[in-house]
Amino acid sequence: MKATIVGLGLIGGSFALGLRKSGLATALIGLDRNLTHAEKAIELGLVDKILPEDEALAQADLVVLAIPVNALNIFLPYVLDTVKSDAVVIDAGSTKSSICKVISSHPKRDQYVAAHPIAGTENSGPTAAFHGLFKDKTNIICESGKSSAKALDIANKVFSALEMKTIFMEAEEHDRHVAYVSHLSHVSSFLLGQTVLDIEKDEKNIFDLAGSGFASTVRLAKSSPDMWAPIFEQNSEYLSQALLEYIMHLQRFHYHLMKHDTKELHRIMSKANEIRRVLDSKSDKPIEEKKDILSKTIN
Ligand code: NAD
Repeated sequence: MKATIVGLGLIGGSFALGLRKSGLATALIGLDRNLTHAEKAIELGLVDKILPEDEALAQADLVVLAIPVNALNIFLPYVLDTVKSDAVVIDAGSTKSSICKVISSHPKRDQYVAAHPIAGTENSGPTAAFHGLFKDKTNIICESGKSSAKALDIANKVFSALEMKTIFMEAEEHDRHVAYVSHLSHVSSFLLGQTVLDIEKDEKNIFDLAGSGFASTVRLAKSSPDMWAPIFEQNSEYLSQALLEYIMHLQRFHYHLMKHDTKELHRIMSKANEIRRVLDSKSDKPIEEKKDILSKTIN
């Protein structure tokens, strides 16, 4: 199968490596609006060649779109206009309602599979890509009823080649869940980083005193604003609900701290410890139970 990867960064590059290694893709074509990224992707062997947009899309049996979600909304209709009538198009965007709406009445809607592989790091660009990024992680497919059986079959082969487990959700449900589990953690980390930069003026102190606790909590603050700003914009409604809830918890914690109510602080933290049970149990649950756990965790 000839695959075209649009967006040769962390996700697109890691897709390319997985598709090649599994043997599912026999030829890999790349597209990236950043020429340095395109050249780097060739140098790293992520793709075999870079072709002009029309050619890269028209030749593909499979197109994987791994570009920021605002760019996806603009580019996906054109991709579907251009691909062969039996090609399959999969995106990896972190929001799903907006893109599903944009594409809802496209004549080739059934060739498209709306996916979100839940795997990533704080790094971006082609040098961040690595084989195994997706291994044992969960992939979410939305509005599967609107994709053809052939498109779903190819998507299944792709995500199995990446060693992912797929669960199915409606787009709104997906956006609500990820607002709580993923997007809120990123906002929290960005703002934690910002708070420490504001309060601790001496950067050397941050460097010297940042134990692994701070480093791991603030890791996501290193993520790319180019990727995250459009995600927050598209998911602002659910993210806003999640943020208000989070702010309420922070205010409650602050209140008890000021009251020197250590017993209550202890109770709050003990309750939060529950997250260990949820996360530890997740890996050995069947897929339907996992979905259930995911919703319970965030509700
Ligand atoms: P990235 O920044 O590493 O790579 C994106 C690449 O797309 C860059 O090389 C950029 O030059 C290119 N690009 C941007 N606009 C383009 C356009 N209009 N046409 C062609 N190329 C374009 O980002 P990433 O982490 O690989 O994320 C890609 C997609 O995957 C996003 O939609 C994101 O929401 C989704 N995603 C990211 C993660 C994560 O944790 N990083 C996880 C799951 C899904």
